[in-house]
Amino acid sequence: MFQLFLPLNLLGFVYREIKASMANIERLFELLDEVPGVADDGASTLQVTQGRVEFENVHFTYPNGRKVLNGLNLVVEPGQTLALVGTSGAGKSTLTRLLWRFYDSQQGDIRIDGQSLRAVSQQSLRSELGIVPQDTVLFNDTLKNNLLYARPDATDEALQQVADMSQLSGLLEHAEQGWETLVGERGLKLSGGEKQRLAIARMLLKQPAIQLFDEATSSLDSATESSIMRAIQRVAKGKTAIIIAHRLSTIVDADQIAVMDAGCVVEQGTHTQLLQRKGAYWRLWQAQLRTEEGGSHAVTDH
Ligand code: ATP
Repeated sequence: MFQLFLPLNLLGFVYREIKASMANIERLFELLDEVPGVADDGASTLQVTQGRVEFENVHFTYPNGRKVLNGLNLVVEPGQTLALVGTSGAGKSTLTRLLWRFYDSQQGDIRIDGQSLRAVSQQSLRSELGIVPQDTVLFNDTLKNNLLYARPDATDEALQQVADMSQLSGLLEHAEQGWETLVGERGLKLSGGEKQRLAIARMLLKQPAIQLFDEATSSLDSATESSIMRAIQRVAKGKTAIIIAHRLSTIVDADQIAVMDAGCVVEQGTHTQLLQRKGAYWRLWQAQLRTEEGGSHAVTDH
C-alpha cells in the first residue's frame, strides 16, 4: 500500500506545482526526476576521475515500442571532444538521453570511469553532466536567475564573463532592466538563437566534467555560430564533450567523429581519416557540399 501511496502522493504534489506555475517546465522535469521512473536503489555516488564515457553493446527501445539503438558501441576518451553525426533519426539524441538517464537501456551497459550508470545516483550523475539541448526551456524568471540555475553561487563577474563568451551582452544591453529583466511567458521573448546562447552560458558557468551539446548552434547565423563554437571548444578543453552536429563544417576539428546509422556507430576517426576512407562520413560530407553549394554556409575541404 505504501509503495502505491508514495508515487500517488508525489504525482499530487507535481500536479499542484504544475497548476501553480504552468510555464515552469524545467521545474516540472526536476520534480518528475523524483518520481521513481528509473531505479535509484542503493546507488552510490559517481566519482569522475578522468571522464571516460563508454557505451557497450547498448540496445534501446522507447516505451512505445520504437527500437532505436541496436548494439551501440562507443568510447569517448577523457578530455576528448567527440562529434556525433549521421542521418536524421539515427539515434544521436537518444544516446544523450540515455547518458542523462531519462531512460535506461534494455541491454548493454553505459559507464563513466568504469561505473555503470545504473549503479550511481541520478543526483551525482547530473551534477557531473551538462547538456545544451535542442530546445532550451527557460524559467519565468529574470535573466540572472535563469543563468544562476546552473551554479547558484556564481559571482556577478563570473556571470558577466560567461555572458561575454556566449555573446549575450547585446541582449543584456537592450533588455530594459539588464540582468533583472524577466524572460519567458511574462517577460522578454528570446529568439531561438538567444535561448541557445543562454543554454551555452549555463554550461560555461557549470563547467561539468562531461558536456553534451545537441545541435547547440543550429539557430545561430554562421558568424555567431563560429565564434560560439570557439567558445565551446575553449570551455570543453580538458573536459569530455559529445557534440551532435548536422553542419559538418562546425566539427571538423573534433578529436574524434563518430558516424551513426540505424542505431549503431558505423565509422569513427578524425575528419581527415574519415574523408580518406570514402565511406559513410565522406558521403555525408559530399551531400552537404551539394546542398550548401552557393549558400552562406558552404563547407570547405580541409
Ligand atoms: P535528428 O538528427 O533528427 O535530431 P537523431 O539521430 O538525434 O535525429 P533521435 O532523436 O535519437 O534521432 O530519434 C531516433 C528515433 O527515435 C526517431 O525515429 C524518433 O522518431 C524516435 N524517437 C525519439 N524520441 C522518441 C520517443 N520519446 N518515443 C518514441 N520514439 C522516439
